[in-house]
Amino acid sequence: MNKKLVSLVIPCYNEEASLSALYGVLKELTEQHQQYEWEILLINDGSSDKTMELIHQLHQEDPRVSFIDLSRNFGKENALLAGFDYASGDCIIIMDADLQHPVSAIPKMLEKWEEGFDDVYGKRLSRGKESWIRRNCSLLFYKLLQKSARYDILPNVGDFRLLDRKCIDELKRLRESERYTKGMYAWIGFNKTYVEFETQPRIAGESHMSYRSLMHLAVDGITSFSVAPLKWAAYLGILVSILAFIFMTYTLIHTWLYGDPVAGYPTLMTTILFLSGVQLIALGVMGEYLGKIFIESKNRPVYVIKEAFTKKHSQK
Ligand code: UDP
Ligand code: MG
Repeated sequence: MNKKLVSLVIPCYNEEASLSALYGVLKELTEQHQQYEWEILLINDGSSDKTMELIHQLHQEDPRVSFIDLSRNFGKENALLAGFDYASGDCIIIMDADLQHPVSAIPKMLEKWEEGFDDVYGKRLSRGKESWIRRNCSLLFYKLLQKSARYDILPNVGDFRLLDRKCIDELKRLRESERYTKGMYAWIGFNKTYVEFETQPRIAGESHMSYRSLMHLAVDGITSFSVAPLKWAAYLGILVSILAFIFMTYTLIHTWLYGDPVAGYPTLMTTILFLSGVQLIALGVMGEYLGKIFIESKNRPVYVIKEAFTKKHSQK
């Protein structure tokens, strides 16, 4: 009987310090699970350090290591799509290069897959070392996201998961360039289950996710999966109009009864400032969607490959 092929898809951006440790752990894993055939697909996302040289080296030493070298830094979400496109496994396991995702959870994921689940995601038991602000911002974001999308996008679930071939084939059809992959996993549906894991500290190097990029990801997450903010803007408009109407009636009656000795400068100012603020918010929300339409309408490829060597390439 043919062995099933498992592809490990790993995006790497300036990971020279983690790569050899990562490979060591993966090698051990594959040796312990020889009932599967393994492919280790490393995607170099335009690293500026020695990451690519190391990947070439690993590829030469071990034919199971394949790679895609992107022409510049396209971001993790785009690098992942390149991985989906070129991984040939019957199932794919997505993990980070920094070993924050413990390899020990992989056998458990494979077990669940054999039981018939199509999408086995890793669920963080704790969020690891994180600042108070970061943790709470993230919780708030998931609350907003769940309120606005019609399907469950789960909190505390990172990009550590196993996906069956049929999920990958569907994900490959979602080719928008402003990608929010975590929402896409929810969107495609299929049979989901989870295994729990404890987030490990980064083995080396530093996280590439600044507050700014997280903020960006959060806005993208919400606006690429729902148009609810447009509705919120409209509701806010209605609410403000009602309040303005009540206020107007009050002022009219008040003037009629007591006269108006001083022209109402403060009320005038506050009303104008408040209304301009509301208008700017609504405009900003609309702009965010307009920008998305602009970018998608150009229909550019999501990533550009400089050099690649994968199972798919060698089959061609
Ligand atoms: N990554 C990438 N391109 C980027 C940023 C990150 O391919 O532009 C990869 C990175 O090499 C790592 C994974 O995405 O394998 C997660 O990144 P990181 O550890 O910096 O994020 P965090 O774990 O702090 O969320
Ligand atoms: Mg990390």
